[in-house]
Amino acid sequence: MTEEHVLLYPDPRLRQKVEEVGALTNDEKGRVFRMLRLLYEQMGIGLAAPQIGWMKRLIVINVHPTHDPRHSMAVVNPRISEESQKKWTMREGCLSFPGIYGSVERPWAVKIEGQNLEGENMVFPVSGLAARCILHEVDHLDGVLFIDRMSAATMVAIRPKLKRLEQHFKRRGQA
Ligand code: ZN
Repeated sequence: MTEEHVLLYPDPRLRQKVEEVGALTNDEKGRVFRMLRLLYEQMGIGLAAPQIGWMKRLIVINVHPTHDPRHSMAVVNPRISEESQKKWTMREGCLSFPGIYGSVERPWAVKIEGQNLEGENMVFPVSGLAARCILHEVDHLDGVLFIDRMSAATMVAIRPKLKRLEQHFKRRGQA
């Protein structure tokens, strides 16, 4: 069994646009469950496959305050098909940017299309934190990071912490 870990900024794999997923093998389904375990361990609310170096269009989320497993969701090939005019701003974090938080504006509500782990099509509306989380994770599949959506003022504020992650990455090399 592969030991999964979360890639940290500025790992270049976080900047890649990744490929669609075909029918999942049992091994791949196992990997999705390991992604969820990692999400719980790290107290996150969402994780995209490329964040563990798995270059596929697949995300897991659980925005429940105690990570009740009934609220876990995996979406294969997720796509945003509609978004609300209404936007809202909230401070976001990302497991690939430990210790860094900043305000990001996103649509309040979206419609998601994709497949479940069995390859069945799903379409569902989602709003608030769950919508925000899915939008953040779908961005990861296109190599877009939350810092790309921050205001110039927020970027100035987090710049020293980003520099620290960059220096750490250079010292450590690619994990
Ligand atoms: Zn993220």
